[in-house]
Amino acid sequence: MGDTLLIRAGLLNPVDANRWTFHREGGLLLEGARIVDAGPLARFREHPASRVLDLDGVLVPGFVDVHIHWVQHHVRGRFQSDLMEWLREHIWPEEAGFEADDFARRHARAFFTDTVRAGTTQGMAYSSPHLSALRLAGEAARGDWLLGNAIMEKAAPEPLRRASPDNVDQVAPLLAELGTERYAITPRFALNCSAGLMRDLGDLARRENAFVQTHLSESVNEIREIRAAFPEAEDYTDVYDRAGLLGPRSVLGHCIHLSEREHDTLARRRAWIAHCPSSNEALGSGRMNLAAVRRHGTRYALASDVGAGPSHSMLHVMQRFLAQHRQAGETVTPQEALYRATLAGAECLGRGDRAGDLTPGKRADFVVLPAPDAGVAAEDWFEELLAGEARDLETRPLQTWIGGAPA
Ligand SMILES: [Zn+2]
Repeated sequence: MGDTLLIRAGLLNPVDANRWTFHREGGLLLEGARIVDAGPLARFREHPASRVLDLDGVLVPGFVDVHIHWVQHHVRGRFQSDLMEWLREHIWPEEAGFEADDFARRHARAFFTDTVRAGTTQGMAYSSPHLSALRLAGEAARGDWLLGNAIMEKAAPEPLRRASPDNVDQVAPLLAELGTERYAITPRFALNCSAGLMRDLGDLARRENAFVQTHLSESVNEIREIRAAFPEAEDYTDVYDRAGLLGPRSVLGHCIHLSEREHDTLARRRAWIAHCPSSNEALGSGRMNLAAVRRHGTRYALASDVGAGPSHSMLHVMQRFLAQHRQAGETVTPQEALYRATLAGAECLGRGDRAGDLTPGKRADFVVLPAPDAGVAAEDWFEELLAGEARDLETRPLQTWIGGAPA
């Protein structure tokens, strides 16, 4: 074994939606960027690590945000109105500014500085339609990110339509250049694309085994417009299904107002839901039907949906996840919140074998959180940690490590 580092700290590690493991005094053994062992500290007494580092806190896996618009970060939480009005009056005019490289570069750097500070080490993000802004974000990225330029060939302001790809031949070379690990095919939502273009994008996604991100069933007004635009489809979900856009590498933001038939379709296609509770609260879009998602066994992970979501902090998203579903009488636990913001997110992004928890063989991406007082149970400590205003939660992590080094 080469140069190793033993970190002595608390360890909180998600196992699945119901369980975690907690060691008040734990050890995490790293070799370079990888975890080689993790567990109670006693296990490492005899271990000849090259170096030892004490961190005063509890390590949890780096957070994963599976649906965030990096180009809306600087206006996050600023506007509150119905989804369609919010997009058309505020957000789309704002995104047009990303045509300018200086503006895009500055905002990309600020975005990744802030997300790393808040403990996010992986994610999937929407860029504006502009190619140059997408490339600048790729250069500025810190952590492990999938990015896609929003495809908006119609029903959008002219500057965005002009910047957007309007056929698959403009998307395929980009996917080939950036690769399926970095580039996600991103039809913004069904109103912005023709059925023909979506079908071509669906074919491309299947052929190349590429990730797809889009929005599905966020607001009642949106659904009404979709029904009028696609009278041939059974429902909103069917618009994407007909296009071949639903598969195990499809990540669908929101999925709030789905019928049984639509839930069934998503589960059969093994698609992922990006569940965005803080965004849904902020825009008054409604609450995802968690009971239906569980009944159908549909896979889901948590996401901030900045800038409708008021904060990029995944601690804040976990707080709103627990609060929103508890208000509705659902049983949700801190164990599930942590799992949905870490390992489930990594699985959603096809990286469950490489990241998402603190187990041997995985990349050493983790967040150092303030330690509990003596005698406080892990559940109580974690819930306490999630309490507070979004702005405080954004800086609550003490440190973020990516690939075995402080970021
Ligand atoms: Zn979104």
